[in-house]
Amino acid sequence: MPLVSMRQLLDEAARGGYGVGAFNVNNMEQIQAIMEAARETQSPVIVQASRGARSYSQDRFLYHLMLAATELYPEIPMVLHQDHGNSAETCKSAIALGFTSVMMDGSLMPDGKTPSTFEYNVKTTREVVEAAHAKGVTVEGEIGVLGGIEDGHGAGLDGLSHLTDPDQAAEFVGLTGVDALAIAIGTSHGAYKFSKKPTGETLKMDRLIEIHKRLPNTHLVMHGSSSVPKELQDIINQYGGKLRPTWGVPVEEIQLGIKNGVRKVNVDTDCRLAITGAIRKVFTEKPEEFDPRSYLKPAREAMRRVVALRMTQFGQAGHVGDYAPIPLEEMAKRYRELSAA
Ligand SMILES: [Zn+2]
Repeated sequence: MPLVSMRQLLDEAARGGYGVGAFNVNNMEQIQAIMEAARETQSPVIVQASRGARSYSQDRFLYHLMLAATELYPEIPMVLHQDHGNSAETCKSAIALGFTSVMMDGSLMPDGKTPSTFEYNVKTTREVVEAAHAKGVTVEGEIGVLGGIEDGHGAGLDGLSHLTDPDQAAEFVGLTGVDALAIAIGTSHGAYKFSKKPTGETLKMDRLIEIHKRLPNTHLVMHGSSSVPKELQDIINQYGGKLRPTWGVPVEEIQLGIKNGVRKVNVDTDCRLAITGAIRKVFTEKPEEFDPRSYLKPAREAMRRVVALRMTQFGQAGHVGDYAPIPLEEMAKRYRELSAA
């Protein structure tokens, strides 16, 4: 199956009332882990690459690995998504490369650090929507500013300082025509999201529910939504790691989000923790090993397990065969008809 647009996948998820995990990749083993988890759980998938991942993998390697995945897993609908595009140029280069979905994060200036103005966000996101929709490619925007820093991207603020305003979110979607919207409700990127189990004071699920009421037809996106399970932290620390105690977003809060319009759930930290724990374990238990496969195989397997678990928890499991892929040209035609209407 060719890569499909994220819009098709999220529309289908909305019809089915489930969420779809979006997992970050930088290399072959991570792509393989996701694809094996998808096959095992019969899930459609979103694979995403940050700017850092694109630079690490030199773009073309990543793209061709994804093409290999479409050949080897033809039954699985897959989206290749640009995570946190910092400028229209980044998004346009992703579209030119063959990504089927892009995020224009206009909540920050192109430096990826400085919070922007609403006007700048609307203008830049609108430019990306026009370029992307002409090719049938999906656009995710962001309003409000997420906490933390991921791959060098982020204002480094705590998750509560720029929460998404529901009125502004509705205005933003109306002005830009984005397909999906990342909202700030207290989540942060990275491993250190919360210093204790999050409550209604730190994770604003009521805000999410309010935004969904205002925008019932916009697919909401939860960023920074790793659960950072203690078991995965413990493995790392047991084998010589030095993680400080930390809490992520509880799976039941994500499931509440999915009941209230969240269709895309970004997960990166959990996969990183699983991989690092597995590698540390081999290094500690078998210091004589020097074949990279001896630790990359368990690392891949550990990531596969956590991805399969999330796919089941988000509800995408079992939905692999729900739909026939819509070619991007057809998606472009639909956007043209919609804007003419
Ligand atoms: Zn993010």
